[in-house]
Amino acid sequence: MLSTMQDGELSIARLLHYGTTVHGDSTVATWDGAGSRVEPYRMLGRRAARLAHGLRALGVSGDARVGTFMWNNNEHLEAYLAVPAMGAVLHTLNIRLSPEQLAFVVNHAADRVVLVDGHLAPAFSRVLPLLETVRHVVVVNGDAAALDAPAGVEAHSYEDLLAVQEDRFDWPVVDERSAAAMCYTSGTTGDPKGVAYSHRSIWLHSLQLCMSDGMRLGQHDSALAIVPMFHAMAWGIPYAAMMVGASLVLPDRFLQPDPIAAILAAERPTFAAAVPTIWQGLHQRLATAPQDISHLREAVVGGSACPPSLIRAFADRHGVRLLHTWGMTELSPLGCVARPPASATGEEAMAYRVTQGRFPASVRARLIDADGAEMPWDGESVGELEVSGPWVTGCYYTPEGTAAEPDGFPDGWLRTGDVGRISPDGFLTLTDRTKDVIKSGGEWISSVELENAVMGHPAVIEAAVIAVPDERWQERPLVAVVVDEGDPVTAAQLRDFLAGQVADWQVPENWAFVDEIPKTGVGKFDKKRLRARYHEHGLD
Ligand code: ADP
Repeated sequence: MLSTMQDGELSIARLLHYGTTVHGDSTVATWDGAGSRVEPYRMLGRRAARLAHGLRALGVSGDARVGTFMWNNNEHLEAYLAVPAMGAVLHTLNIRLSPEQLAFVVNHAADRVVLVDGHLAPAFSRVLPLLETVRHVVVVNGDAAALDAPAGVEAHSYEDLLAVQEDRFDWPVVDERSAAAMCYTSGTTGDPKGVAYSHRSIWLHSLQLCMSDGMRLGQHDSALAIVPMFHAMAWGIPYAAMMVGASLVLPDRFLQPDPIAAILAAERPTFAAAVPTIWQGLHQRLATAPQDISHLREAVVGGSACPPSLIRAFADRHGVRLLHTWGMTELSPLGCVARPPASATGEEAMAYRVTQGRFPASVRARLIDADGAEMPWDGESVGELEVSGPWVTGCYYTPEGTAAEPDGFPDGWLRTGDVGRISPDGFLTLTDRTKDVIKSGGEWISSVELENAVMGHPAVIEAAVIAVPDERWQERPLVAVVVDEGDPVTAAQLRDFLAGQVADWQVPENWAFVDEIPKTGVGKFDKKRLRARYHEHGLD
């Protein structure tokens, strides 16, 4: 029997309409280095309509792709809403990719128009000659004439484009399964791979973000999205904010600890989200220049493993709960959230908080061993994680269409490349990525567990562990470590510190004291570069 229920409209146009009318007084504020440019959602709705008309005038129709090469700002939010709502596909470009990688993703997605921040126009000019499908570049807050556009590409000013348009747009009805936005993974191995989110998947993912066991976003929040809007859609926060009328605070290009502290002081957001390196930087900044940040009811941390010592430090010294989450571009990106069960308190609750989190009902998960067999959720068995669900991609985007049995999707499940264990009550603890696991004498050593243990030492600022070849053991761990200048510590002292925390045979004998751990375009430890450096000339 079919149900009697309506399907409703799970579309970005609906989110846009709802957020910018019912919550028209909520605001988006973009930091400009000294203060904020504030735009009420009511105005955001009008400007999104103008942008949609402007893009139509540039020939954007059907499912044409519109790229953005932008920081987190009001105009980027306008594009987040206007482009999918008009039926086109938003393609957020990672501004930190190399020109070759950028050209690859723009050409692969066949972007027709790209919106570019004025500050990023010189960088984008260098990529332009490599682009095959782009016909229009729209410069936001900058001089379009300064763009070095080759023949066949027209440059426009964003404000000029919007100025002559109407405030209302007749948003089309779209199939909720059609693509609304796309993102490419940063391609730590091989070419970047594209994921195309649907209107439906974004809608369902937004609901999860607002749930009390998700990020709990609500109308009383003011959410600081430090995570870039080109990194897995700023973890879905902009769309979830429209769904519930939460105000947004956007840092534009000001991501260093000093401006982040200034934004926190000026805007007093109730919620914020960033990768661990950002929180680590803020923590150090607050140690020298204390500031009350307890207005943050919660701060989300994800994108790479957050050391338990940092979660504790934020709780103990700043009175702020760092909420650990695990996700991937392929999952829109939210996978799980580390909210302890209601019965857990004190240290027991903390033991849950430092895991990668608990899977929600919509994300199914399984652990697979080397032979492809499923392993139990017993909190001990370690295997590769596979997931499926309504906001998990079922394949990677190809211009030719979807293969019947795409690689990396056994029985339709996504192989994550992450290795870990799951407790009977559904909490994931990641120990590694498959390519980072250290195989020492036939046993595995978890690079993440070693990193967490080393970063627990008070003098250690950052530590990344890679495998290095070893004649006797095949591989051994090497720790690249950044220590506090004012608190010198030796390898022997760090080894002593690890004794008792990890098995004796796991304690590393290889240590490299470095000034900085190389980071990827989205602020994660770049172990690929670390390995390359080690193999070229060692790390010291
Ligand atoms: P990229 O592959 O370009 O880094 P993503 O940002 O999608 O792209 O990264 C997803 C990966 O980040 C996950 O597969 C996982 O390895 C890692 N990751 C994300 N969150 C966490 C976390 N809380 N703990 C450990 N690893 C994480």
